[in-house]
Amino acid sequence: MTTEQPVETVETVDVVVIGTGPGGEDATGRLARAGLDVVAVEARLVGGECPYFGCIPTKMMVRASDALAEARRAATLAGRVDVAPDWAPVA
Ligand SMILES: Cc1cc2nc3c(=O)[nH]c(=O)nc-3n(C[C@H](O)[C@H](O)[C@H](O)COP(=O)(O)OP(=O)(O)OC[C@H]3O[C@@H](n4cnc5c(N)ncnc54)[C@H](O)[C@@H]3O)c2cc1C
Repeated sequence: MTTEQPVETVETVDVVVIGTGPGGEDATGRLARAGLDVVAVEARLVGGECPYFGCIPTKMMVRASDALAEARRAATLAGRVDVAPDWAPVA
């Protein structure tokens, strides 16, 4: 039985960006557009906090709760509206 050894390669670049949140993505893009060889390293999720846990999910929840609140106001202005909150479309 043969045991395969991992192949090691060495590459030299101008810049290594650690983390690809909004900051790392911006830095990586700017450096690459300036003509530098750039490697970005991400430990978890490309995009960082904003698209997964921060800005975008928050705004989806705020917008959804605003829509529910507005629909519930309809009775005082325009007649009856049945509102059945559902987490699925928000998620
Ligand atoms: C609830 C909430 C709502 C928000 N709403 C908004 C908003 O509406 N507008 C707005 O502008 N901002 C908002 N923010 C803030 C925004 O999310 C942050 O400002 C932004 O994500 C910061 O970007 P960053 O690149 O500095 O860090 P991060 O997004 O944290 O990215 C850092 C990245 O580096 C990686 N990393 C860390 N250490 C290593 C390592 N040793 N090796 C490899 N990778 C590594 C991480 O895995 C991560 O992906 C919100 C934040 C929260 C929590």
